[in-house]
Amino acid sequence: MNKRKVVFRRRLAVSAAALAVLALLFILLRTVWGLMTGAGGSPAAAHYTGEPVSISEYDNSADDRPAVEWNLMLVNEKYPLAEGYVPVLATVDGRWEVDERIVDSVAEMLADCRKEGLEPLICSAYRSVDKQEELFVSRIARSEGDGLDGDAAVASAATVVAVPGASEHHTGLALDIVSNGYQLLDEGQEGTPENQWLREHCADYGFILRYPVGSTDETGIIYEPWHFRYVGKKAAKEIMERGITFEAYSGAV
Ligand SMILES: [Zn+2]
Repeated sequence: MNKRKVVFRRRLAVSAAALAVLALLFILLRTVWGLMTGAGGSPAAAHYTGEPVSISEYDNSADDRPAVEWNLMLVNEKYPLAEGYVPVLATVDGRWEVDERIVDSVAEMLADCRKEGLEPLICSAYRSVDKQEELFVSRIARSEGDGLDGDAAVASAATVVAVPGASEHHTGLALDIVSNGYQLLDEGQEGTPENQWLREHCADYGFILRYPVGSTDETGIIYEPWHFRYVGKKAAKEIMERGITFEAYSGAV
């Protein structure tokens, strides 16, 4: 091999090594940046993948609402859950799943309620969109069994079961709580001491009574004295003190 060729090869090797070092440095910096800002490069990822994520901001690219803090996400028939959004879940009170970040608030509220000798009982918490789909489809079948067909059966089902995507239970921030001594989901629930305690104190733990009496025009949901929703203490205090709906608080009426 002549001298010129050797020099050329050495230069080539040096250049390749330099490139490799640069590439490694780039990958390292990207990884560090990714760790600092959260997966995907943004903590307020607008697109959800169906994998559980712990978002700091909720941003539904399919509607015209601005991004909001995770605890203030609004989900109803007009603003269904962002497609593919699934919260990171944890278990509370034995078997109920909720967004992992509200576990302590739920546990504390129930514990304090029980300290008063009361017996609150969770009867519904997180529900996936798939599960809601199942409920909805079986309800349509029932309506069809009652003699309704097509759109009429779907419309009838929608008055009883939330349309998949429109249930607040998809957020992992909603709970149905009844009295152990009275477990029917009807207006009689408001007469129980458990319900009275919860309504009076829920805001101290960051919860609101989500579908108060006389608010169907704004919420689209019947009066549900058993349905509580986590929004954080600050919002809960304001909503409960002013006696407004979450839709009104969110500027969505
Ligand atoms: Zn509910």
